[in-house]
Amino acid sequence: MHDKTLALTARALQAGEISSVELTNRCLERIRRFDESLNAFITVTGDRALEQAAAADRRIAAGDATALTGIPIAHKDIFCTAGIRTSCGSRMLDNFISPYDATVVERLSRAGAVMLGKTNMDEFAMGSSNETSFYGAVHNPWDRDKVPGGSSGGSAAAVAARLVPAATGTDTGGSIRQPAALAGVTGLKPTYGRVSRYGMVAFASSLDQAGTLTQTAEDAALLLEAMAGCDSRDSTSLDEPVPDYSRAIGEPLEGLTIGVPENFFDDGLDAGNAAALTEALGELERLGAKLKSIRLDNVHLSVPAYYVVAPAEASSNLSRFDGVRYGYRSPEAMAGDLNAFYRRNRGEGFGAEVKRRILIGAWVLSTGYYDAYYLQAQKVRQLISGDFARAFEDVDIVAGPTTPTPAFGIGQKTGDPVQMYLNDIYTIGANLAGLPAMSVPCGFSGALPVGLQLIGPHLSEARLLQTAHHFQRETDWHARVPPGYGENP
Ligand code: GLN
Repeated sequence: MHDKTLALTARALQAGEISSVELTNRCLERIRRFDESLNAFITVTGDRALEQAAAADRRIAAGDATALTGIPIAHKDIFCTAGIRTSCGSRMLDNFISPYDATVVERLSRAGAVMLGKTNMDEFAMGSSNETSFYGAVHNPWDRDKVPGGSSGGSAAAVAARLVPAATGTDTGGSIRQPAALAGVTGLKPTYGRVSRYGMVAFASSLDQAGTLTQTAEDAALLLEAMAGCDSRDSTSLDEPVPDYSRAIGEPLEGLTIGVPENFFDDGLDAGNAAALTEALGELERLGAKLKSIRLDNVHLSVPAYYVVAPAEASSNLSRFDGVRYGYRSPEAMAGDLNAFYRRNRGEGFGAEVKRRILIGAWVLSTGYYDAYYLQAQKVRQLISGDFARAFEDVDIVAGPTTPTPAFGIGQKTGDPVQMYLNDIYTIGANLAGLPAMSVPCGFSGALPVGLQLIGPHLSEARLLQTAHHFQRETDWHARVPPGYGENP
C-alpha cells in the first residue's frame, strides 16, 4: 500500500480496504525506518497525525469524505502550522511556533488530509541542492551520495522513497520542479497567485508560489483542487474559479501543439538527459501532440535577472528576523549596543547562503546601483515574459528539460555559488513570467532520474496536468521506486 498513488490510496480508503489509521501507521513506520538515511523530515508529528487519521476514518464512515480524507501528506517546513514548529530550514526559526495555519495547510486539513510532519528544505528556500538547511543536507534516495535538488528536497525525497504519497512544496525559481526532476517525482508549480501565499514564509514575494510533489499528475490534480483558489488574506491571490482538474486530465490530447525551445538543447545539457528528453517528446508526438521548434531567446538572461530580483526581495522580507519579536536570539545578544544586538542575532541565526542573498539584495537596491542592477533586471524580466507570450501565440505549451544534469554529488557545487545558480537555468523563466510549469519523470541518465518540464500560459494548469497524465498512462518512469525503498518495513 505504501507505494500506491494518492488516487489509488483514496479509492482503497473509500472502499474500506484500509483505514487512515493503518495507512498513517505504515507511513510513520517507513519514516522511522528510512528517514535516518535521507533526512527528509525536520519534524514528524506522529501523535497528531494519528488523531487526524482517526477523525478521517470517522468522516469516511459517516459518508462525508473528500478525495483527500485520510490521505497522509507532508508539508514543506516553510508553511506555518499552528502549534508545530515552522523552521524554514533555518536556525533563525528553530524555535518558531506559528499561532496559525497557512492557507495551504488549512485547506488541505479541512479536506481531511493527515499531516505526517514537516519536510527539510534549503534555508529560507534559498538553494538548488538542499545543502543549505540548518538541519543538514537531504540525501537523494536514488543515490544517497547525491543531492535531491532544492529547495523542496525533503518533500521530493519523501515522495520518491514512498515515505508519504504526496507533499507540498514552494517554487520561487524552480524549487518544486528541480527536486522533482532529480528525485524522479512529479512536481507542479501553479500560476503565480493560483494558490495563496498566506502563511508561507516569504522569500521573494513576486515569484513565490506553492505547489505539489506527487507520484503522478492525477495526484497533483487532486491536491491542487483543494489548495487553489482566491484568499482574501493574500492580495496577490487570483480571483478565478478553480477548475475540476481531475476531470480535465482525461480529455484527449489531439490538437495540442507543443513548442520545443531549440536553444534549450545545447552543449549545457547532459547527453543522458538529452536522450531521455528526445524519447519523451517522441512519446508525446505518438500521443497526438504536434511538436514545433521555437526559440526563447532571452531565457539565458533569466539566471542573472533572477539573482538580482530574488535577493532584492529577500533582503526586504528577511529584515523582520532580528530576534526582537521572534526568531533566534543570541545568548550574547545583550552584551553590547543595539547594533551588536542585531549583528549577533542575525549573524548567528542565518547561514552563509542567506547572508549572501541579503548582502546582494541590499546592494542592488542601494541608491547608486538601483538603476544598473535592479531596474535592469526588471527590464530583462519583461523581455523573458515577452518571449513566452510570443511563443504561446503559436503553441499551447512549451516542453523541454527541467535541469541541465541529473543529481550531482553532495558537496560538489557548494564552493561555487554561480555553478549552483546555473542549475536553475531552465526553471527560472516560468517564475519570472508567473507561468504554471511541471516536471514529469521521463527516463534516466545512468541510474539517475530525468525530468521533462512542461510550461504553459497563465492558468493553464489543466492543460499541463492533462499532458502529463497522458504521458504517464503510456510510460512508467513515475512508478519506478529507488532501489532499497520498495520493500515494506
Ligand atoms: N534555486 C533557486 C534559489 O536558490 C530557487 C529556489 C526556490 O525556488 N525557492 O533561489
